[in-house]
Amino acid sequence: MLGGIEAGGTKFVCAVGKEDGTIIDRVEIPTTMPDETLEKVFQYFRPFSLQAIGIGAFGPVDINKTSETYGNIRTTPKDGWRHYPFLQTVKNEMNIPVGFSTDVNAAALGEFLLRGLNSCLYITIGTGIGAGAIIEGRLLQGLSYPEMDHIYIRRHPDNKYQGVCPYHKDCFEGLASGPAIEARWGKKAADLSDKTPVWELEGYYIAQALVQYILILAPEKIILGGGAMNQPQVFPYIYQYVPKIMNGYFHFFELSEIKNEYIAPPCLGSNAGLIDTFVLADQALQEAFADGDVQS
Ligand SMILES: [Zn+2]
Repeated sequence: MLGGIEAGGTKFVCAVGKEDGTIIDRVEIPTTMPDETLEKVFQYFRPFSLQAIGIGAFGPVDINKTSETYGNIRTTPKDGWRHYPFLQTVKNEMNIPVGFSTDVNAAALGEFLLRGLNSCLYITIGTGIGAGAIIEGRLLQGLSYPEMDHIYIRRHPDNKYQGVCPYHKDCFEGLASGPAIEARWGKKAADLSDKTPVWELEGYYIAQALVQYILILAPEKIILGGGAMNQPQVFPYIYQYVPKIMNGYFHFFELSEIKNEYIAPPCLGSNAGLIDTFVLADQALQEAFADGDVQS
């Protein structure tokens, strides 16, 4: 049995399940101060005999395994969580292998394994924008994980809205995240479903970002998840604008007919985040077997 922690800024979803994605039990715990939140997490897991735990954490977090602060939350406006040693606290308490990554990386891994790909790019568009890339079977990571959400894209000539990013104003996140949609149109994305111009502009911005990711990473598949992507009407605009912006340059067959086989919604549905944490847990367990830390 594996444990999974989908650690979000407003709630922690914890579950017990199997490596094939079966969920046996789950619970939601509000995110308050770290020690208080984690004590409730430990109380939940104690009755189960778990082999490993996987954590998909809200960012920014240190996921560089060679870093002294590996597994710590980095700078965050969230009370009490700044520099919190998240991974170490869970390891000390549970004493089993613990897999750790960002929630977006966990999602990328889950989709990658379920679809049997060699590379993929997972992008979530909601309160913020996040992206995780897997290239040749490994999560793309250098100094840190890439921060693809803050790339610069061109503002639409008719769009006078300045953008919501506190650092760059009109970067991708500043123009296309949930808060950007709300600030530009005065309503939440969910209440704008029937407004065609909203989704055409959103599709235009997403397509611009995707073209850059395709040119730089050439992933085999792009998966678009997150709250703003629960609006299926945006997909046709993305399919329309990606080839238009590419303008015949990138001739791979997936792009000659842009359609849902290449740019698709997640296949894991609403439990995606949890199933992804089981994948992290299973990886941590396999690594521990390989290192001889645990007996099979
Ligand atoms: Zn930005």
